[in-house]
Amino acid sequence: METVTHEELIAWDKAHVWHPFTPMKQYIASEPVVIRRGRGVKLEDIHGNWYYDGTSSIWLNVHGHAVPEIDAAVRAQLEQVAHTTLLGQANVSSIVLARRLVEVAPEGLSRVFYSDSGATAVEIALKMAIQFWANQGRREKRYILGFTNNYHGDTLGAVSVAPDPLFHWPFLDLLPEHPRVPYPYPYRSPYSDPERCMQASLEAVEAVLRERGHEIAAVIVEPVEGAGGIIPAPEGFLRGLRALCDRYEVLLIVDEVATGFGRTGRMFACEAEGVTPDLLCLGKGITGGYLPLAATLTTERVFEAFLGEVEERKTFFHGHSYTGNPLGCAAALASLELLKRLLPKLPAKAARLKEWLDPLAQHPFVGEVRQAGFMVGIEIVADKATKRSFPYGAEVGYVVARHARARGLLVRPIGGVMIFMPPLAASEVELEEMTAILRAAFTDALPELEALARG
Ligand code: PMP
Repeated sequence: METVTHEELIAWDKAHVWHPFTPMKQYIASEPVVIRRGRGVKLEDIHGNWYYDGTSSIWLNVHGHAVPEIDAAVRAQLEQVAHTTLLGQANVSSIVLARRLVEVAPEGLSRVFYSDSGATAVEIALKMAIQFWANQGRREKRYILGFTNNYHGDTLGAVSVAPDPLFHWPFLDLLPEHPRVPYPYPYRSPYSDPERCMQASLEAVEAVLRERGHEIAAVIVEPVEGAGGIIPAPEGFLRGLRALCDRYEVLLIVDEVATGFGRTGRMFACEAEGVTPDLLCLGKGITGGYLPLAATLTTERVFEAFLGEVEERKTFFHGHSYTGNPLGCAAALASLELLKRLLPKLPAKAARLKEWLDPLAQHPFVGEVRQAGFMVGIEIVADKATKRSFPYGAEVGYVVARHARARGLLVRPIGGVMIFMPPLAASEVELEEMTAILRAAFTDALPELEALARG
């Protein structure tokens, strides 16, 4: 690449790059981190500062950066071909990956439809669910039941099943009105008992299905509410949903874009409850965090509803140009091999992580520390007794994140919840150091949080 000075890079970034999910006025006024290199669980900026990758590069890095096995797999694939289409033809690495995914997926998922991002994996699941019923003459089954504060991506279809008035207000009038019910969130539920809170949510699902099941194609759910603040569903929730979906003839879509590939300590979160969804959405960690690839897995039952004569128009007419990209598939194959060796070590590491995070619960502005394996959400509140949140715009998460960055850890909050998502391959020493920085950042932030809480 041409030589560009640090000053030019920063100026050109601010002049030309429109960053996703980023208030640009504030970004342009800030001193952004510009990464030039990654090694293991650390990233180096253009000035030579090293940081822990505490977001796993937005929830997807599994084995760290510059992993020799994945680098070699991608290089080997480059020697063959970088990209060919899956529209009406096949390529070697996407075939082998489909086989390996089916082997590790919950039993009964045997068909793999590739795409290139979590949102597209969700779009595909939504369209497949609706067309599954339409192909059988049930065109009235076209609504999707979702959960409040779940997040499924930013394309309009994904937004339609998880609209957020804060983020999506210009589009709300355009969206089909899919029904939604509360996700079990014991900390902020009238029922603080997780079991009761879960029952209330399942009862709400059943009430909608009883009345409208004839026009509902599927229920879509995150096993751990991710962008909504890292809220793990109580044990039994997925099983309960599976039973309700079966009772009311509705498909179950589980969005494991964030939770998949070891993030919760198991290969997939569904495994913990022995649940096989009808459609499983995968992305993010599928390539170990290397390349854009995603997949929607489904069953023979769903697949067979799309078989027919051409003029019957049962075909799933959906495809993205880079679907099943061979470089991504090669990276995914190498990552899966490494992950199989890493998985047995994850529960013990996640337990240590919990020990190091527990003290944060004593912080005067921490309402709750939530954890599902390597997904951590620390809810920052203005008043612990009443659980009152800081007002929108107070950016309390960013106050803490700035202190963490100064100490060498990159983290990105969502609203009032600090999210910590270390790469799964981080060693215990690295995890201990990252959590020590996080605790120190919360302490550093205390005076600013106190001032904000006073208003
Ligand atoms: N579903 C879930 C559960 C997610 O967490 C995300 C991304 N955070 C998505 C879907 C969308 O994935 P992508 O950003 O790759 O489109």
